[in-house]
Amino acid sequence: MNIHEYQAKEILKGYGVVVPRGIVVETVDQAHAAAVELGGGTVVVKAQIHAGGRGKGGGVKVVANPAEAKEAASQILGMQLVTHQTGPEGKKVLKVYVEEGCDIARELYLAMVIDRANGFVTIMASTEGGTEIEEVAARSPEKIFKKSIDPATGLMPYHTRSIAFALGLGGDASKNAQKLIAGLFNCFVECDASLAEINPLVITGDGGVIALDAKMNFDSSALYRHKDIAALRDESEENPLELEASKFDLNYISLDGEIGCMVNGAGLAMATMDIIKYYGSEPANFLDVGGGANAEQVENAFRLILSDEKVKAMLVNIFGGIMRCDTIAEGIIQAAKAIDLSVPLVVRLQGTNVDIGRKMLAESGLPIITAETMSDAAEKVVAAARA
Ligand code: ADP
Ligand code: MG
Repeated sequence: MNIHEYQAKEILKGYGVVVPRGIVVETVDQAHAAAVELGGGTVVVKAQIHAGGRGKGGGVKVVANPAEAKEAASQILGMQLVTHQTGPEGKKVLKVYVEEGCDIARELYLAMVIDRANGFVTIMASTEGGTEIEEVAARSPEKIFKKSIDPATGLMPYHTRSIAFALGLGGDASKNAQKLIAGLFNCFVECDASLAEINPLVITGDGGVIALDAKMNFDSSALYRHKDIAALRDESEENPLELEASKFDLNYISLDGEIGCMVNGAGLAMATMDIIKYYGSEPANFLDVGGGANAEQVENAFRLILSDEKVKAMLVNIFGGIMRCDTIAEGIIQAAKAIDLSVPLVVRLQGTNVDIGRKMLAESGLPIITAETMSDAAEKVVAAARA
């Protein structure tokens, strides 16, 4: 789960990470008042969306006084902000964060992620802060310093010393940076984060070290033990269909093509999308009903897939292992009767009770195109979408 910059900074503050003072607002008048409250001097008005690269897209503006803050907020609030992480359609800005201006001497990069290869938290640091780290990684990977932290020892002073050294820091800046790294690490572990990225990490003129930007992601499977973090979820940032699907415990991913896909299991989802592409089309989405879905969930899955206007034909590709094919067939029939089946439907079932399932579909009288193999199914659904 993703949260906003202002929320991440609030959490980080609790772990001793220094962040600028700021106030989140939703109107231009509130932005003016916030700038006054922060002292009336230089502030930065920052769009709050779940995507990075806001500065380049015009979503971060440094201004000199409250009047200018109001003007900047009027430009940013309500805008459709496009960054390299939002996709071409961008994201609508509903909130801005008004933050005190910071005296920047250097912009560095600091992040923590889980390295799935060894199961360790990996700390990444670079002197090339402020810019897109993907570019640094592509152009000059040697400029990214990495340190894996063994959970058996946890973060040790020599880890933070070596990171501060790699960042070229000495004196107070080094001490402050080490304290910040330790705070960020504790936060990362205690909150079950999957990503914490501070870009830029700023060194001020007098050796202060400040997290000027903050992006945090959390492991959704661990949210049950962090009610306070779960409460920060901003549903307006999520794809409405994906959000709806999550309410039914369905995994739904929205894509750009024309074939709606209902599958079970991530592996079958990938294979189904590959074979659709192989036959010359593109998936509009995929919906994984999981291992133990019931007929009602299948009906909800249908509803979701068909409510996507991009869908020109639908493919159900299910392997009945734990989930039996007759359950799927029952769900399909129930759904097809309840919902107006506006596009062609191709069904391929395999596995437990497949004969019963196929018989049920054949006897249902519904206009269902059945298929035996994956390639048969893909060929038929692509042809149906083009018909
Ligand atoms: P994004 O990464 O989404 O573009 P950032 O929060 O990193 O957004 O802001 C972009 C740039 O704006 C920063 O690299 C920094 O130069 C400047 N900036 C952001 N916040 C402040 C601040 N409080 N004071 C001064 N400059 C800031
Ligand atoms: Mg940034």
